Amino acid sequence: MDEKIEKFRQMLAECNNVVFFGGAGVSTESGIPDFRSVDGLYHEQYDYPPETILSHTFYRRNTEEFYRFYRNKMLYLGAKPNAAHKKLAEWEQQGKLKAVITQNIDGLHQAAGSKVVWELHGSVLRNYCESCGAFYDVDYIRNSEGVPKCEKCGGSIKPDVVLYEEGLDDHVVTEAVKAIRNADMLIIGGTSLAVYPAAGLIDYFRGKYLVLVNKGATSRDAQADLVIDGKIGEVFSAL
Ligand code: NAD
Repeated sequence: MDEKIEKFRQMLAECNNVVFFGGAGVSTESGIPDFRSVDGLYHEQYDYPPETILSHTFYRRNTEEFYRFYRNKMLYLGAKPNAAHKKLAEWEQQGKLKAVITQNIDGLHQAAGSKVVWELHGSVLRNYCESCGAFYDVDYIRNSEGVPKCEKCGGSIKPDVVLYEEGLDDHVVTEAVKAIRNADMLIIGGTSLAVYPAAGLIDYFRGKYLVLVNKGATSRDAQADLVIDGKIGEVFSAL
């Protein structure tokens, strides 16, 4: 492991347009479960699989049931940024890292101080009335019951989260692709790379070093210049 960390350090020293692409594994050390690890949400038992509950169709047909799951399992309001979030913010401040592209919806990169964060799947921190567009924060959702309703017009409030079957935001995708295309180093961390189209964005990388930091293998290990199988918070604090 020490040799790999040293190699990672050397690669970082050679690059000044680093981009990070991450997923749920980045936040497990902050106490937020991911989906596919053994202690992830997909291994818990519900009436429906999480992928079904978090789909657009389910949201439309069973909005109350959706919110029961969502309040219970998707809102981790006490969670704090861990060493991985903090290191990325530090690299951005030093001018080394140009963007974080995340599949996470927990807002922890911004909480750590990162400024350029492209949230491919939105954020639980933003919520909008489906009728009048009024904004609501996450506390409003957490403290509401059943389907949260707009105080102004009575419309239903929907989280600004990309559900399964929904498309990604064009502007966010364009900026994420631009960042990946211009990067000299792409670090992929804490993601199973199983969720598309998000995972496909890494194909735009043409830079010098592709580094993967993940617990367990991913489909892209063979493509990477360096693969570190470990906890991302621990790995990043050693850098
Ligand atoms: P995933 O659950 O499919 O995969 C997570 C990967 O991270 C796994 O390979 C796991 O072994 C690895 N991992 C777990 N802890 C790790 C650690 N400490 N260090 C390094 N690797 C670690 O997650 P995904 O690829 O992001 O895709 C799932 C979807 O779920 C995403 O679209 C995301 O929006 C959503 N999600 C988000 C959150 C969040 O916002 N924190 C939490 C759960 C799910």
